[in-house]
Formats: sequence, structure tokens, C-alpha cells
Amino acid sequence: MLKAERRNGGTADHSLVPSFPHSDSSALDPCVHCGFCLPACPTYLVTGDEGDSPRGRIVLMRSLERGEMSPNDSGLLEHLEGCLGCLGCEPACPSGVGYGRGLEAAREQIFQARGLSPLARLVLGVFRYGKIWRPLFAMARALRATGLPHLLSGRGRFGFGMGMLASSSEMTEQAEQRKAVGEQGGSSLGVTAPPPRGPVAPPTVVLFRGCVMNALFSHVHEATKRTLRVNGYRVIEARGQVCCGALHEHAGDVGGARSLAAANVAALEGRADFIVVNSAGCGALLKDYGRLMGSDAAAKLAAKVRDVSELLAEKGPRPGAPIGLDVAYDAPCHLQHAQRVLEAPLAMLEAVPGLRLRILPGSDRCCGSAGIYSVLRPAMARAVLDSKIASVAEARPRPDLIVTGNPGCLMQIGAGLRAARLPIGVAHPVELLDLSYDEAGYYG
Ligand code: SF4
Ligand code: SF4
Repeated sequence: MLKAERRNGGTADHSLVPSFPHSDSSALDPCVHCGFCLPACPTYLVTGDEGDSPRGRIVLMRSLERGEMSPNDSGLLEHLEGCLGCLGCEPACPSGVGYGRGLEAAREQIFQARGLSPLARLVLGVFRYGKIWRPLFAMARALRATGLPHLLSGRGRFGFGMGMLASSSEMTEQAEQRKAVGEQGGSSLGVTAPPPRGPVAPPTVVLFRGCVMNALFSHVHEATKRTLRVNGYRVIEARGQVCCGALHEHAGDVGGARSLAAANVAALEGRADFIVVNSAGCGALLKDYGRLMGSDAAAKLAAKVRDVSELLAEKGPRPGAPIGLDVAYDAPCHLQHAQRVLEAPLAMLEAVPGLRLRILPGSDRCCGSAGIYSVLRPAMARAVLDSKIASVAEARPRPDLIVTGNPGCLMQIGAGLRAARLPIGVAHPVELLDLSYDEAGYYG
């Protein structure tokens, strides 16, 4: 129930509040309240409430900044916490408003005044410490291996959670479960491995492993490494990495995000020419480590960060063997809006001959996953997801696969498709290229 996610009662106290700790609140200054951003906002489209729109939230953030509203005001909290942080409003704005920067500043101010809700504290606490999340995800993997999450996936909260876990499986496992795309694979198509190409000293790439990606999507990490090698990169590993800190930063816990970022900078600094990331949410923050940390080392590291699609697109990439699937690309918000990477994932997929690639209406809109948003506000997250699933259901011909480059989106969209009983799988784009290379015999 959306209503159940709203806070009870008004607790506004109009005590003086500190000014924004972030200097970036000025990013909201250009807003002229024109409203062009409203149709791009998924939460506004669900509720039709001005307070759930970018324009309404900007008014609230400015009031908070000026001390006219307290960070404890229940209405302000409701609308600002209800924001997905998807940044869909930024490209829609003709005035160049930096909505994301303003939201970060407001959330940091709220965090400093109130801390986190008990649920958010619990979830973020888990991701802060590898000693907690590693065994938890190991249990999740063991459960996934039983096949039960696939059988138990459905519409209710439990069924949706099971659908999310089932959707973190490898693309080929999902295909077997659906008995739908298995026949598309077949045996090797007899394409001989291409001769090695590229410079004598190939560019080195260190893989950013992250937390959820490493725990549930290690198959995407393997696909990333294999496809990069085929395209002339030397891929190396680095120990000592932790969660990127994006979940913490989005919640306003900038201190928590900085401490995780510091560990990652120490682990990755000076290791390679590039740092490759295959999770849009992690990549967006890693590219922003310089601003987050305010250090030269972090800025230098951030300048080397690339989404896997960017590195592959830079090389062509090398074409693989044909795969005859209908595929719809869904752009993760933190790839298209935060990183402004639009073409590279499509270039990567175009290297798979025979793929019937489409972009469905609403594919550029948030799926409702949004970090830990789907845990904290499940009803709104599902309402936002529903319009995307409806668009997929209406597509003719129906796609075999939805591809998207972010773990939260893969699990959210995958669970939504399962809840709607649509026989459509989800995959990371690099999984398709990897399958195509495998079919081409590039891996020997
Ligand atoms: S954020 Fe941009 S598009 Fe939205 S109301 Fe302000 S100026 Fe207009
Ligand atoms: S970030 Fe997304 S949910 Fe928040 S105001 Fe902008 S478009 Fe709406």
C-alpha cells in the first residue's frame, strides 16, 4: 500500500537548521518552475502529486536549505524520501538544473539531523561490512541453486523477492527454466577464432567487483573478463575492494560512502590503465569519487573508470557468431542519466549478428529498483515498475530477453516479468556478447 509507506502525523518543528553542508545546492538555482520535467518523473506519473515531482521537490529542498522547513517535517521527508534519485528529470530540464546534486545535499542535511530510519540503517549496515554481506549472499546463492526461487516467484512480497533472486541467475539458466530460448543456442557455429590483434602492450583493465555483483552476478564478471580479452585488453584483479558506497551516498550517509570509497581507492589506485565496472550504479559513483573524496588520488582513479560497454565500444567491438533472439534494451538510470552513456551498450549489442534489438517505450524510465528504494518503499517501487512491465507485455513480437546493465534493474525487472507470468528472461548485455563469442569459438 502506497499509503502505508507514508509517515504518520506531522512532526514539523521549525527550529533553525544548518545550511547545506554541500556547496552543490546551488545546482538547483536555475530552476524556473516551468514543469517540463514533470512527465519524465516516474513518481509524479504514479501519484500526480506536485510534491512527488521534481519541481515540487526542488521547492522543498530550497525551503530546507533556507531553514524555512525543518529536516524533521513529515511532509518534506515523505516527498524527498519518495524520490527515486533516478535523475530522469535532469535531461528533461531546459535550464540545466542539477537535480541530483541538490538531492544529495538535501539528503545529507537530513541524515545529519535525523540519521537513518531503522530499516535503512540495517540494510546499509549490511553492505558496509563484507563480514556480514558475504555469508548472507552465500546463503542466497545456495537458495538460488536449489531452483526454489524460480518456483516460488510471484506477485506478493515474498514471491517478488524470490523472483528477484531467481532473476540474478545466468541468462542460460533462466532460459532453461523457461524452456523458451534454449533452442536458440545450439552448438558452435564453426566460426574460427580471430587472430590476436591490438597493440603489442595491451591496455590493462582492473575489474571492479563490488558487493551484489560479486556475490550474485559473478557470471557477469566472468563474461566481462572474457569479452574484454577478446577485444585486446589485459584484465587483472585487485584484492581489498569493498562495496562502492553508492547506496550510502544516496541515503545521505556521506561519511559511510567516503570510508568505503577510501578502501576502494587504496585497492585500485595505480593498478591499471582502466577500471572496468559492469554495474551502472557502482560506475556512476566510482566516476564521482574525486568529488566525493576531494582528493587528487580519488580524482585520478575516477578518471580511469569505464563502464564495460564503453571499453568494448571503443574497440568496435569484435563481432561474434549470430544469435537469433528478440532483445529489448532497457537503459539503467545510472548509466544513461548519471554517466550519460547512451550509445555504447547498443554498439556492444550490435556486435552480435542476428540479434533483433529494440528499445521499447518507457525503457529510459526508472524500473523502481533505485538502490535500496525497493526495500524501503516497495509499493511505490512496484507501481513504478508496473508501467515498464505493461510496455513489455504490449510489445509485438514479444522480446525473448530484456537486457540492462545494472544488478538492481536486472532483479527488479526480472521479478516483475515473473510476477506478470511473462516468459521473458533478463540478462546483462555483456552476457549476450559473451555467448556470441562462445558460439564463435573465440574461447577455444
Ligand atoms: S527542474 Fe527544470 S524542467 Fe523542472 S521545473 Fe525546474 S527548470 Fe523546469
Ligand atoms: S530523480 Fe527521478 S523520481 Fe526524483 S524527481 Fe527526478 S525524475 Fe522524479
